[in-house]
This record gives sequence, C-alpha cells and structure tokens, in this order.
Amino acid sequence: DTTHFGYKTVATQEKASMVADVFHSVAAKYDVMNDLMSFGIHRLWKRQTIACSGVRQGHKVLDLAGGTGDLTAKFSELVGESGQVILGDINDSMLRVGRDKLRDLGRVGNIEYVQMNAEALPFPDNSLDVITIAFGLRNVTDKDKALRSMYRVLKPGGRLLVLEFSKTDNEALSKLYDFYSFNILPTMGKLVANDSESYRYLAESIRMHPDQETLKSMMEEAGFEQASYQNLTGGIVALHRGFKF
Ligand code: SAM
Repeated sequence: DTTHFGYKTVATQEKASMVADVFHSVAAKYDVMNDLMSFGIHRLWKRQTIACSGVRQGHKVLDLAGGTGDLTAKFSELVGESGQVILGDINDSMLRVGRDKLRDLGRVGNIEYVQMNAEALPFPDNSLDVITIAFGLRNVTDKDKALRSMYRVLKPGGRLLVLEFSKTDNEALSKLYDFYSFNILPTMGKLVANDSESYRYLAESIRMHPDQETLKSMMEEAGFEQASYQNLTGGIVALHRGFKF
C-alpha cells in the first residue's frame, strides 16, 4: 500500500490503533516528556508557530491534534471573548489531560474540546480562520486526505500551519539526531514513562515523515496556495504554511 507520493503506509487499521495505544499510554506524562526530550525547545518552535499564525481577536481557530493544548492556551488569549478555539484530537486521553490543564490555567470561556479525526473534520466548508497541526500530521494515516479536509473547512483567506519534525541536511546533526532518537529517547521513555515502545514508535514515525519539499507539494496538491516553509533548529523541525484564497 503506497500513497501517490510513493510513501509506504502501514496497513491503515494497524497504524491507527498503534497511534491510539501510544497516546493513551503517554498522555499523563506527555508534557514532562516533551520538555525533557526537546530540552524545552518545543516551546520555541510553538512560539514561532503562533507568531506566524496571524491569529487575532474574533478568529475561529482549530488546534488540530492539539493534545495537551499548548497552542490552544495561547490562541485562547489572542482570539478574546469574541473568538473561539477548538482543541481537536482523536484521542480522548490526550483531550482530557489538555482540558484539565487549561482549566487549571484559568483558560475557560472560548475553548471547545472536540474528539475528531483529522481525515474527516466535523466542520462546514469555509468556516475556520486558522488551523494549526503541531507534531500531529505524522501520526495521521492518510495525510493527503487530512490536508484536503483542512483545506475544505478553512475560510477563503484562511491559513494552515503545520509544525512537524523534518529533515536536517547537516550530516553531523543528522547522525547525532538519529543516535538520540533511536537510543536515548526510548531509554528516557522507559525511565520516565516506563514505556520504551511508544517512544521507539515516535522516533520511527519521525524518520518516515515526508521531508520539507515533499510536504510542501502535498499541501499544494490539496489546494493550498503560497505554500512555504521555514526550518527550525537546522531542519530538525519545519514550519509549513499555506493559504486558501
Ligand atoms: N499538538 C500537541 C503538541 O504539539 O504538543 C500534541 C502533539 S502529539 C505528539 C500528537 C497528537 O496527535 C496526539 O494527541 C494524537 O492523539 C493526535 N492524533 C493522532 N492522529 C490523529 C488524527 N488522525 N486526528 C486527530 N488527532 C490525531
């Protein structure tokens, strides 16, 4: 089974249920692990995403695969009382951890928590101003379908931001990163969350994910215009952006 870009896809059901197991398993420890695994740098990557999002008062924003809601928290401030943020995720354990955290932070009133699959977004056509998907797309089984679904629900003038692991073209950094992902990361997963398998899956899903140019083409194929990207941390992560006009 391959996508039209030639990527191998694990049998659909198998991948979806593996992803579900991983995120049910890591939900409670997710935030701690994120800080540990990225040395806190994920906060900078997310800050950059927010800076490029164009989110403002009154906007309707979807934080897709939003998990524990880091982006949602900031968007809820930016859209104000007249706006709305939807934290959408397929996994109810992640949604629950996110909701509890945001309520503890006092972020209430303009946030909705909705269980949804990125491949079939439960919104009318042309209804959202901004969609972000941070470290989520690589877990989605049919990425092309998900991108088409995001395009459909955005308003004309709306934009999509995809924050995701990508490919660094620095050889030394790439070697270091591979060693880190396949050796240190699962060991950390074992020590902190007693779950090395989930973190091995994460490392593998990162290696399988399309590189910068491929993802840009996939966005264009789904209809996005002015698709572009910027590398963060030497291309270990890339932030893609595209518009619907
Ligand atoms: N966006 C958050 C962040 O950056 O911290 C969470 C990212 S977490 C690595 C990936 C999230 O994607 C998980 O919460 C998982 O449940 C969600 N996910 C996986 N497949 C999905 C799908 N098909 N539709 C919606 N969410 C999905």
